[in-house]
Amino acid sequence: MSDGKCPQCGQDLRKCLIQQNYSLVMCTNLNCSYPFNERDALSNTVYTKDAEILEAAKKRLRQEEQNN
Ligand SMILES: [Zn+2]
Repeated sequence: MSDGKCPQCGQDLRKCLIQQNYSLVMCTNLNCSYPFNERDALSNTVYTKDAEILEAAKKRLRQEEQNN
């Protein structure tokens, strides 16, 4: 699932959970440091609903099961 495109390199953005209920929108391109090179990186934190976190956790679990 994509959360938009990086304004700096055009790669997909991904929400990364940094705290309970807060995610940081980060670029998936390892060569791109967005949003850490932005002065207002904290404005990229978004409130994340429990349901969304659960869904992401379940997906991760399912992927891990498939890899074993
Ligand atoms: Zn980027």
